[in-house]
Amino acid sequence: MKKILQDLSFEQLKSLVSELGGKSFRAKQLYDGLTRGKSISRINIDPTLRSRLLEEYEDEPVKIEQVFTSSDGTEKYLFRLADGNIIEGVLMKYKYGNTQCVSTQVGCRMGCKFCASTLGGLIRNLSAGEILSQVLVVNAMHEKGRERGVTNIVLMGSGEPLDNFENTVNFLKNVTAEGGINVSARNISLSTCGLVPQMYKLADMNIPVNLTVSLHSPTDEGRRRTMPIANKYSIEEILKACEYYFRKTGRRYIFEYSLISGENCDKAHAERLISLLKGKPCHVNLIRLNEVKERELKGISEKEAYRFLGLLEKGGLSATLRRTIGADIGGACGQLRAGYLKKNEE
Ligand code: SAH
Repeated sequence: MKKILQDLSFEQLKSLVSELGGKSFRAKQLYDGLTRGKSISRINIDPTLRSRLLEEYEDEPVKIEQVFTSSDGTEKYLFRLADGNIIEGVLMKYKYGNTQCVSTQVGCRMGCKFCASTLGGLIRNLSAGEILSQVLVVNAMHEKGRERGVTNIVLMGSGEPLDNFENTVNFLKNVTAEGGINVSARNISLSTCGLVPQMYKLADMNIPVNLTVSLHSPTDEGRRRTMPIANKYSIEEILKACEYYFRKTGRRYIFEYSLISGENCDKAHAERLISLLKGKPCHVNLIRLNEVKERELKGISEKEAYRFLGLLEKGGLSATLRRTIGADIGGACGQLRAGYLKKNEE
């Protein structure tokens, strides 16, 4: 595989262009073209510079392979990377704008029992530019005039962003850079299964994105049943890291809680969760489990989910039940890619 031009910041691109003998305004043209989701060969720059670049850099590091559109407007994407790997993403349309869910790794090595992304293990990390390009190509499809097509980003696709720390942080720097697509850090949420040391590192980076932690149980014992990472870090350690994040960034933190039948959503769990989180500057996001056919775990009904939500609210927690969208176009959380890989093996 060649190098990825979208890995570079504007400053780095300027140095590269000057090394290749290009005039400095070329760097701006190039950067603007890349920001608009164009491949190198489609950007209007000096042909000599273009061919020099194409010798070393991938023309189109992330290509849209397939788009699935739901009746509610949600779009799911399969992207093809330059080495042939496939990743997936989603664009959810809301009144206030469009939220894109991006992947940070091909596969994942965290091994959560409910998740399809981890079924085949980790294949490789994505580079900063491969993460960014997912946004750039989808934004290009949806932007209208000066209005951005992608207004919000969640790092909740395949992979564990903090397990690919450096590339993820470089992505965050580049996607929030003023001269580029310039998505505000406030409109970006990073979700982690709870890699405590990296949560501290992120807090010190001065990129105040929303921090989301996949909790899924109010006890360490319960977490260990579905999340191997819980053997390494306790809930207490996670809460301390969240508190630190809050102090550093002023951002309230969010817990993801997938409702799994018989595992984490009866009255006793609600009570434990309330005593664990009450009074903390946090929000709980409930999601009904998206059943993965390779896994045994079962979800609960919408009615039961609302009952659990009611208990949390009555106990004084700020909580919401995330609505399930795009259900008619294949499950989320790595199931699209898993299905694609399977079909292409047969
Ligand atoms: N690695 C990150 C991002 C993963 S995906 C993390 O662990 O947070 C985003 C969220 O979807 C996580 O909270 C994850 O636990 C959850 N998730 C994964 N598979 C799911 C499924 N089948 N049903 C419901 N939520 C799921």
